[in-house]
Amino acid sequence: MTKKAFKSESKRLLELMVHSIYTHKEIFLRELISNASDAMDKLYYKTLSDENLSFNRDNFFIRIDADSKARTLTITDTGIGMTKEELEENLGTIAKSGSLQFKKDNETPADVDIIGQFGVGFYSAFMVADKVTVTSRALGSEEACCWEAEDTEGYTISPAEKETVGTQIVLHLKPNTEDDSYDEFLDEYRIRGIIKKYSDYIRYPIQMMVTKTRPKADNEQEFEDYQELETLNSMVPIWKKTKAELTDEDYNNFYKDKFFDFQNPLSVIHTSADGVTSYTALLYIPAHAPYDFYTKDFEKGLQLYANGVLIMDACAELLPDCFRFVKGLVDSADLSLNISRELLQHDRQLKVIAAHLQKKIKNELLSMLKNKRETYETFYQNFSRQLKFGIYDNFGRDKELLQDLLLYYSSTEKKLVTLDEYVSRMKEDQKHIYYACGETVDKINKLPQTELLTEKGCEILYFTEDVDEFVIQMLQGYADKEFKSVAAGDLNLESEDEKKELEKKKAENKDLFLFMQDALGDKVKEVRASTRLKSHPVCLTSEGMLSIEMEKVLNSMPNNQKVKAERVLEININHPIFATIAPLYDTDKEKLKQYASVLYDSALLIEGLPIEDPVAYTNAICELMR
Ligand code: ADP
Repeated sequence: MTKKAFKSESKRLLELMVHSIYTHKEIFLRELISNASDAMDKLYYKTLSDENLSFNRDNFFIRIDADSKARTLTITDTGIGMTKEELEENLGTIAKSGSLQFKKDNETPADVDIIGQFGVGFYSAFMVADKVTVTSRALGSEEACCWEAEDTEGYTISPAEKETVGTQIVLHLKPNTEDDSYDEFLDEYRIRGIIKKYSDYIRYPIQMMVTKTRPKADNEQEFEDYQELETLNSMVPIWKKTKAELTDEDYNNFYKDKFFDFQNPLSVIHTSADGVTSYTALLYIPAHAPYDFYTKDFEKGLQLYANGVLIMDACAELLPDCFRFVKGLVDSADLSLNISRELLQHDRQLKVIAAHLQKKIKNELLSMLKNKRETYETFYQNFSRQLKFGIYDNFGRDKELLQDLLLYYSSTEKKLVTLDEYVSRMKEDQKHIYYACGETVDKINKLPQTELLTEKGCEILYFTEDVDEFVIQMLQGYADKEFKSVAAGDLNLESEDEKKELEKKKAENKDLFLFMQDALGDKVKEVRASTRLKSHPVCLTSEGMLSIEMEKVLNSMPNNQKVKAERVLEININHPIFATIAPLYDTDKEKLKQYASVLYDSALLIEGLPIEDPVAYTNAICELMR
C-alpha cells in the first residue's frame, strides 16, 4: 500500500484550513453530516431517474457512534458512496467539490438540497482527529474502498469490506491537551447539543444509540440503564411549513426553545420571498428586552441558514440597528457562501434580504400599533429607547422609517399618543407641536412652564427620556409642524391686547429687570416678564439650541465637557410677589438683590437642578421670613 501525497497545492494549505478557516471546532460534525445528507440527496436523485432503483425512506439515515474506549467517533451514512477514484478525487484534492460538479452535471429538482460547494468541509475533521478513516461503497459497485489519512502529509487507499452502499467515516480523536479536550466529542449530551444546534433540520434522521434508564422488570424500585436508538434531529424546519400548518403555540414554543426566552414573543413574522434572492424568514418581536440589551455585550443578528443548515448564529448584516431587538432566522438557498460556510461574503444578497426585512418589521410594528395598542405599548416600554436611538443615529438617516412608531404621553389625552394622532387633533391656528421635558409625567404636570398652554387647551407631549429632545432636534418637525418646547423662547400665544399690556408693563419695569439681571451676573442671560406663567411666581426657560434638559443630559455623561444653556429667569408680573419686589428698586436695592437670588434658586429647584449655595439660599429665605 503506497502512501500518496495530497494533490492539492501544499500541505501548508491544508494545515492553514484546518487551523484557521473555522472558529469553532464543533462544526466538523455539521460538515460531515451535511456531506452525508448531500450523499443521500444524490442517491435519492438517482432513484428518481433510474427505474431499477427504488426509494425507501427508512433506508436513508445517518448514524453517529461514539466509542469512548477506542476514542473514535463514527459517522455512517446510507448515501451514494464513493468509488476508489472518487475517494481520490474528492478527498485527495483539497477544494475539489464533487457536490458542486454533481449540481452542474445534473438539473437537480427543487427538493434536492445540496449543501456542499467548496470541497473543504471534509477536512474540518482534522481539527478534532489525527487520523481519519473513510470506508465507502459507491452505488452500483460491488467493492468498497478505504481511504485513510493520519496527518496532513498524505493518504492511503486500500480495498475494504462493506456490505451496504454508503460511507462510514471514523474519526480517531486527537489526544487531549491542556487547552483542548477532545473527549467532549464522545459525550452523548454534547453530540446531541451540536446536532440540535447545527443540523436539526437535516431532512434525514440522524440517529445515535443513547443511554436511558428504566425500572427493572423484576423489581420496579430499582433502575437499570439500557441503550436505545434515537433520532436526534427534528428534520422539518418549522419555517418551511406553511402558516396554515402551524399554530401560535408551535411558533411560540419554537421561539422559546430556540432563543432561550421564558416569555412568549409579542409578534411573529413568517415570510417568504421569491425573486432574485429567495428566502424564508421567521422573525420574532420579544416581549421584553434581554438584561444586556442596552450594553455593548448584546449581539444583534439573525440566524442564517442555507438550505436548512445553520451557517451563522448571529448575522448582523440582516438586521438594521434600530430593530436589533428582533430575534429570528433567515433561510436561503441562494447565498453565495465562501469556503468556510461561517463567513459569508458580505454581499448584495444579504443587503436585499435585510432591506425587505426592515420593511416587514416596520409594517408589523405599525400594524401592532394600530390593531393591538396594548401589546404595542408593552413593546414600546421595552424598546422605545432603541427606536429613538435609531432616529438619532446616522444623522437621522432612518427618521422617516421610525417616526411613526414613536409614542409620547399627552397632557390632554392622559395616555400615550403618536405624532400622527397629535397632529390630527391640532387646532387650525396651532403652528407647533408642543412638548415639555421632565423626569416623570407627575413632575411635568407640575411644571409652571406648561401653565399658559394648558390654559389655552393646547395638547403637550411629555418627554421623560433623556434622548427625547435630541430625537426631536433630529426630526425637526412632523407633518410640516415644528416642535416647540414649552420652556424655550417665546410661545407667542397672546392676543394683541395681551401683548400690548405686556409691552407696557415691560417698559415700566425695564430698569427693575435689568438690575436683577446684573445682580445675578452670568447665571442668566436675561430676566424678563413671563408670558407663560399664570399662577406660579417664577420659572427658568432657555434661549438657543441647547435646552436646560439637554444641558442636564450632556453634563451627566462621563468625560463630557460641561455645557450651559442660555438661561432666562421669567417672572410672573401678575403674581403678588411681584408687587412686593417692584417697589424695592426704589426703596431697598440690597433686598432686591436678595430676592433676585432667592427667586433664581427657586427656579433652579423647580427644574430639578442643584443650587450653588444651599446654605446661603436657606439663610436668605429665613432672613426674608423674619
Ligand atoms: P463539499 O462538501 O464542500 O463539496 P467536502 O470536502 O466536504 O466538500 O467534500 C468533498 C467531496 O467529497 C464532496 O463534494 C462529495 O463529493 C464527497 N463526499 C464527502 N463526503 C461524502 C459522503 N459522506 N458520501 C459521499 N460523498 C462524499
